[in-house]
Amino acid sequence: MRISMITGVRSRFHGPDIKTSLRPSEDHGRVVLKDSADIGSTLPSEEKAAKEIVNKMLTSSAGFLEMRTLTKAARKLGLPNMEKLLANGVRIAVHRDDPFALNRRLFVAEYDPVGKVLRIAPRRLSVSTVLHELGHALDDVLEPDKSPGEPVLKSGVDSGLKKLYKDYCERTWNLSWWNRLWKQGLWSDYATENEHEYLAEGIMFFARGPGDREKLHKNDEGLWEYVRKMMAPFPFRKICAF
Ligand SMILES: [Zn+2]
Repeated sequence: MRISMITGVRSRFHGPDIKTSLRPSEDHGRVVLKDSADIGSTLPSEEKAAKEIVNKMLTSSAGFLEMRTLTKAARKLGLPNMEKLLANGVRIAVHRDDPFALNRRLFVAEYDPVGKVLRIAPRRLSVSTVLHELGHALDDVLEPDKSPGEPVLKSGVDSGLKKLYKDYCERTWNLSWWNRLWKQGLWSDYATENEHEYLAEGIMFFARGPGDREKLHKNDEGLWEYVRKMMAPFPFRKICAF
């Protein structure tokens, strides 16, 4: 894999290994966090606006189901964040492989910060994977590039995030086998990969829905707070459940 000499980060970020991703789970804590995408699935104006943004970002064709997945992910990330990505030149390509090409990439799901392109193969198109890759894109556009073609990521330069990542790794390394087995304190295996994946996984968990958002809150409050500030204005409301 190519390494960027300038930023010290990988030039492309890949989606989590499907096998090592944690499954969403139901948490019954005292606070429930919901966003408009979770609460109301019948907001035609928001649906239309999300579709328009996705259409502007697409550099390839997308089928009905592909469009539906992309639009759902866009609504979950929040339209102000999607507009930020669009304005900063981020584009989405549904990657259809040439069946005769030697280097076939049927399972590609990556964000390329140099070209500002999110490439995703139809068979990897799920809301979670799109949110993870959009998380990399958001990480990219929130920090100005050094120059065109020399991207700088917020997760690559922010000491606060680096500290949160280091603490998370230490916590997971020190887990007892019992806690590791039951995923106590471990909200994502893939988040331990590096700072960039840690942040992308955090954004995915935060945006995916109230269950995962609360799981992140319970197991990594520091990152929850970091992502919450980063994604503002995120359309979620806080509800006291008990
Ligand atoms: Zn990634």
